Amino acid sequence: MSSKKNLSSIAKQYPKKHFVAASAVASFLIAIAILPTSEKVSASRTQLDLALPFDEGIAAPQEPSIQASNTPSEKSVNVNSVNYPLESTPAPQGIQFSKEYTVKNGDTLAVIFKKAGFSSRDVYHVAKVYEDATRLHPGETVSFAYNSDNTFKAFKHQKTQLISNVIEKQNDEYQIKEIVREPTVEFRFAQGTINSSLFLDAKEAGLDQTSIMNFANIFGWDIDFVQDLRPGDTFSLMYEELFLDGESIGTGNIVAAEFVNQGQKFQAIRHVDEHGRANYYTPEGKSMRKAFLRSPIDFARISSHFNLRRKHPVLNKIRAHKGTDYAAGRGTPIRTAGDGKVVFAGWKGGFGRCVIIQHGQGIQTLYAHMSKFNKKTKKGTRVSQGQVIGYVGSSGLASGPHLHYEFRVNGVHKNPVKVKLPEARPIEKKYRKDFLADADKWLAILENNQRSVLVARVD
Ligand SMILES: [Zn+2]
Repeated sequence: MSSKKNLSSIAKQYPKKHFVAASAVASFLIAIAILPTSEKVSASRTQLDLALPFDEGIAAPQEPSIQASNTPSEKSVNVNSVNYPLESTPAPQGIQFSKEYTVKNGDTLAVIFKKAGFSSRDVYHVAKVYEDATRLHPGETVSFAYNSDNTFKAFKHQKTQLISNVIEKQNDEYQIKEIVREPTVEFRFAQGTINSSLFLDAKEAGLDQTSIMNFANIFGWDIDFVQDLRPGDTFSLMYEELFLDGESIGTGNIVAAEFVNQGQKFQAIRHVDEHGRANYYTPEGKSMRKAFLRSPIDFARISSHFNLRRKHPVLNKIRAHKGTDYAAGRGTPIRTAGDGKVVFAGWKGGFGRCVIIQHGQGIQTLYAHMSKFNKKTKKGTRVSQGQVIGYVGSSGLASGPHLHYEFRVNGVHKNPVKVKLPEARPIEKKYRKDFLADADKWLAILENNQRSVLVARVD
């Protein structure tokens, strides 16, 4: 069921840049702390023996099966239908890589090849079939294989822990192969109580920045982790830990998660379809996503609200403000709020550089004052939710760099902050039965773990 493409796309979810993005957001999250309380955090993370699968160490990932043991209820749960990559591409037979280098700042491919004892002709041929070889990053490892006469046999570029590319010379031809390794997966449980911020409390519960970021993204449609958080809110989740050759290489996906915000419980279960596309759904199979992003830029401050009787800051007279203004630095990426088609991309009077997107259900969104458009943003092109369409600027009638954002339903302007956003499509019919069964199992596992931690604390 799982194709090579699927495997590769899953493996690519764990590149290094992921962590950089997460840390930027993490530093943002850390900057925002909600009302401090004197009570100490009750965050906790269970140890291996607490209802975790694969007690015997590394288990085969083919059949993720969970034994929730050692819990007060002795309830055990099997999970058989979670999708994981099943095949890994075998390493090219018989290549012995004998020299390994860690790329340092300022290293070029030519320098590294020279150190390995190869000529600039080898560099040329390798770079020709493998462009990425010319864009090595410090910290990455490359290795070489030699023929018996010490001539070039193969070059390996370890891109991430899971992905490497091998360029092999055979009969004067250079051939490239991508090798994707498949991590083994164990499941972890974590939970905590909000005391200061999601970032700090989740960190205390043992989660890394990527997982915290992913967690916030899952619930980001329902919960504003800046405005809505209250001390006493709780979170819990089951997530993957990935292993290669018995060593942990970091966390994988969150498979089930719960957040109780001001007494209201939100739960999400991950589902991967046959094309490898992952989404989170409520236990009833409704999408956690909405068909529209609430805001087209990340973490920007609202500088002016939707207001039909606003005094215009530049014109200095009463003029309806039919959108929301987000103050942000010039060049900040602007994302399309939903899937749709660009119906306008150009200069539009006081709006300056402006993009209008037509979505389904009679909805149009408008983005104004851009400094520039994304090259792909042209009239008639299709865009998908979250795609960058342009960059913040102050073109047209604007007092400073900001995004003016409008949301229109059948031509009527709505307040983008308050408008009820249509839901994204629920789980597809053909997956529904399996999904509901999966959801039940994962929720039972979550609940079991929550309970056993509680009992452990009381004891
Ligand atoms: Zn505005």
